[in-house]
Amino acid sequence: MTSDAAIRVDDVSFTYVGGAAPAVRNVSFEIARGEIFGFLGPSGAGKSTMQKVLMRLLLGHTGHVEVLGRRLQDWDTDYYERIGVCFELPTNYRKLTARENLDFFAALYDGETHQSGALLDLVGLGGDADKRVEQFSKGMQIRLNFARALLHKPVLLFLDEPTAGLDPANARRIRDLIREQQAAGTTIFLTTHDMTVADELCDRVAFIVEGALGVVDAPAALKQRHGRRSVRVETEDAAGDGTHEFPLDGLGQDRAFLDLIASKRIRTIHSQEPTLEEIFIQVTGRGLE
Ligand code: ADP
Ligand code: MG
Repeated sequence: MTSDAAIRVDDVSFTYVGGAAPAVRNVSFEIARGEIFGFLGPSGAGKSTMQKVLMRLLLGHTGHVEVLGRRLQDWDTDYYERIGVCFELPTNYRKLTARENLDFFAALYDGETHQSGALLDLVGLGGDADKRVEQFSKGMQIRLNFARALLHKPVLLFLDEPTAGLDPANARRIRDLIREQQAAGTTIFLTTHDMTVADELCDRVAFIVEGALGVVDAPAALKQRHGRRSVRVETEDAAGDGTHEFPLDGLGQDRAFLDLIASKRIRTIHSQEPTLEEIFIQVTGRGLE
């Protein structure tokens, strides 16, 4: 393991009180500083459990965990000055305005905090700063939640299903905000069952099913290793329409492909690579739902 890792997890298991089986079992991984690292897996896989162990909300894991150069159990409450957390469901006071929420939570920190107005601008809520949260749409609440996680300038962010239940425009906004945080130097550990988030955002993803980690790698590397790139050709002629697929490698020497494009009218021609979801299914034998 390298010494500049933000998080090191070595052979960690966690069983809920009364749980028949561990919710997380023998998990090992490492997150580099400045990296966006994603846990990708279906509902119930153990993603939130692993994050809660790392947030010190679930105590009693086995194995070794080190965060920001210190063993997890050696951190004091100052841990919460260093990490920012977004839970899956927004947790803001509905009777307070957005600004009041941020000012309230900012007062809980000892260290330096952002100005609430600047943060609200950052997440696109500048014009809604003085509205009560009960009037906010889900997308606005999640953006406010995100702003709250950034209040105390954390160096490490835990995001649990950051785009779950959001419309495409809000989901894109959140993805952009996550990227901006990474550009500012923050390390980000997120969980998702959304392969778009995993694919577009994560430097590396770990597949998790039933508490156990499968492969851990960059999305592009996973696509290269698993699954063949191909070319799909749709043709039309008097005899009818047809769809044909050819391996991308060696295409220029592929006689059937060359004959096809010489003899048929082409409607579309696309190269395609496997999606992360297809690779997930191939590797784990499970879907993401
Ligand atoms: P994910 O976040 O991947 O959807 P979770 O970490 O929430 O999965 O859950 C992993 C497993 O642990 C599931 O089987 C779930 O039912 C169980 N679990 C989650 N929270 C609790 C709890 N508070 N008590 C007992 N079991 C739990
Ligand atoms: Mg979860």
